[in-house]
Formats: sequence, C-alpha cells, structure tokens
Amino acid sequence: MKVESVRGMRDILPEETPLWQKLEAEIRAAFALYGYREIRVPLVERVELFSRGVGEETEVVDKQMYVFPDRKGLPLALRPEATASVVRAYVEHGLHAKGDLAKLYYLGAMFRYEKPQLGRQRQFHQYGVEAIGSLDPALDAEVMDLAWHLMERLALRREGLLLRLNSIGCRDDRPVYREALQGYFAARVGDLCPECRRRLETNPLRILDCKEEGCRALARSAPRSVDHLCPGCRQHFADVQAHLADLGLAHEFDPTLVRGLDYYTRTVFELCSRDLGAQDALLGGGRYDDLVELLGGPPTPAVGFAGGMERLVIVLSAQQGAEGASAPALDLYLVPIGDDARREGAKLLAAVRRSGLSVDTDYMGRSLRKAMQVAGRTARYAAILGPDELARGEIKLKNLATGEEKAVRLPQFAADPHTLIR
Ligand SMILES: [Zn+2]
Ligand SMILES: [Zn+2]
Repeated sequence: MKVESVRGMRDILPEETPLWQKLEAEIRAAFALYGYREIRVPLVERVELFSRGVGEETEVVDKQMYVFPDRKGLPLALRPEATASVVRAYVEHGLHAKGDLAKLYYLGAMFRYEKPQLGRQRQFHQYGVEAIGSLDPALDAEVMDLAWHLMERLALRREGLLLRLNSIGCRDDRPVYREALQGYFAARVGDLCPECRRRLETNPLRILDCKEEGCRALARSAPRSVDHLCPGCRQHFADVQAHLADLGLAHEFDPTLVRGLDYYTRTVFELCSRDLGAQDALLGGGRYDDLVELLGGPPTPAVGFAGGMERLVIVLSAQQGAEGASAPALDLYLVPIGDDARREGAKLLAAVRRSGLSVDTDYMGRSLRKAMQVAGRTARYAAILGPDELARGEIKLKNLATGEEKAVRLPQFAADPHTLIR
C-alpha cells in the first residue's frame, strides 16, 4: 500500500533545495550584519504558551493550532509561530539577567491548520528576529531597516517595497480603545459575522482582522488606535517615524493594521511587495512590550518581525528562471571501464573527495556511452579510467563544457586534483 504525505505537509525535493539553501544563507548573513545570533527552539511546546502568549481569541490559536495530548495526557502544541517560544527561552534561561539587549534570530518549520494553497502550507517555514530589552524607537526603525535590507539582498527592488505602519498603543491605552471599538461595533452588530459578534465581548480588536467582507467594510471606518494613544506612545510613534525618515525608509501609515496576534503593543508594521500584490505581506512584526512579563519574566520591552520562506522561494525561483539553468552540481564524474579500473577508481574517489572536490561514479552498470551522458548532465569534468589508461598509469580528464581532453598521471591526479580541473 502506498502511504502518502499529509495534506499541507510538503516535501521539498532536491531540485528545490539549492534555492532554500541560498535563501537561508542570505537570511543568516543579513541577520548577522545587524548583530543577531541564532536560537533554536523546539517544534513542540505546552499549549498554554500560545494560548497565553499569542492569545486565545486569535485565529492562529483558536482555529489553526495543532493541539494533541502526549502519552501522559499533557496538552502540547506544534508551534504556530516562534516569538512566544523565543521569549519563553529568554525567560527560562535568564537571558534578561545579563542586562543587555538580546538580539536573537530563528529559522524553521511552523504549523497551522489552514487551507493549503500556493505559498501556504500547513507545515511552513519562517525566519524572524527578536530584539528583547529596549524601548528605544531607534531600535524599531533598525528592525524595519533590517527587513528592507534583507529584501534588497534578495534583489527585490526598493521601489517595489511598501512598508505599512501603525501604532496600537500600550496596555494602558487598550481599555479606552477597546471601549471605543465596542461602542462602534455594538451599534452595527447586525453587520458583523457570528464570530465577530462573540469577539465584540471578548476581544473587539480582533474584529479588525476578520476576513469576512462585512466586517472588513465596518473595520475601515472604525475608531483608530492612533487616536487613543497616551502621550508616551504618541511620542514613541512620532520618534519611530522620524528615525525611518532619517534612514530613508518610506512608509505608509495604515490605521487598520493591527496584526493577528494579541501580544503586539505600540509599533506594528508589514513589509509588502507591490509586485506580488500589496495585500500579502512578505513579513510583519512590531513591538511586544508585555510578552516577557506575561510569560513570567521581568517587565521587558521587545520588538521583532517574522516572514514566510515559501513566499520568498516563489520570488527567487521566478528570478532564477529568468537567469537560466544553474551550474552542474558535481566537479567530477568518474567513468571506469572494466573491473580493474572500477577497483582503482574506488580508491581515487575516496582520495578526490578528501581533497575537497565533489565526485561521483556509476553504480548502475552503464555502458561507456551512457555513463558519459550522465557525466554531461551532472558534472563539469569526466575522468575516464579504462584498461589502456590503467596500463600507462594515467587517467583521462575531459572538460565537459569545452570537450577538451588531457591525460594525467594517476599519482598526480590523486594528490592534487584541484589544479587539474580548474
Ligand atoms: Zn500608551
Ligand atoms: Zn467577522
């Protein structure tokens, strides 16, 4: 019986992995330039980390999270995002005790039970940064500058990028804003979806990111969070915008932007591509100044962002398609003819690999002609070892791009293949 993969859980095949590796390398390089260090957190966490951290009323936790009991009945979740895990680790390992700004980044698989479509899987991959320990508005701007820099490294045009920005205020601003939203939506309750009628009591802010058309229409004229900021948050937002201007980062103020997770405070932002359709963000983030405390640490402000790798892979593969085929994967392909050559060849393979060149050979009993075809597809050079070459103590090297051939002494080839195949 054939066993198939689970819906929304996709294999990334060898044809695709070079793109993923390139993307991961660019992300790591960009994050390192800004002083971030990698943290690797588990795929599985206790359910309450997300119900408390991300919010019970969010779509992510309420509808999309994979939840299951382990064999002793402990309720666990596959992580739907990584910020809560990073903050848990920050608190658990006492990173705050060092008294410094912790700049942490991650890459990895996340899980959400969504309808699978192009660029959206149930197991998907995110990259993100978390800067924990400072309320400095210059840090908000630096995090957004990093987001821009990363996209520019990936050859997205600066003019094609759109930074959407809002401030949703601190927890002291929230009750007043919440009341304003409740008043506004309560007067229009008939136009809300059933879900949002419930949210009206529990978490009216979440109505602003409901996907239903009726709710969206109402949300567009709803009271704005920026009109309900305390003087501190108002100043912080003004400072963030001034720092963005200093950095030459154009942004668009978007009063409807709230992000779908409860932990956000003050700054929220999304970086979108005009080329891909600005309604789908490449990445999003903001401040979460209460999350460390909420998860048991001391009051500690923080800011970060996360983005989906799948979207970037689509962007990069479109670019690479335009650039044409990539270089062969192997440096060398060894074609032995006859049993003696095969045995001698096995020793050569081991030596060449230890010298740092990639080399492979035929294990399928192919003819010389067929083996040369494989070499042509996969390698830059073919190394042909037949009875005649063996008798002379030589091996024949063929440049598969130019067709040029030369005979090389076997000891020289084994000792220093690099200089021979440049
Ligand atoms: Zn405030
Ligand atoms: Zn709704």
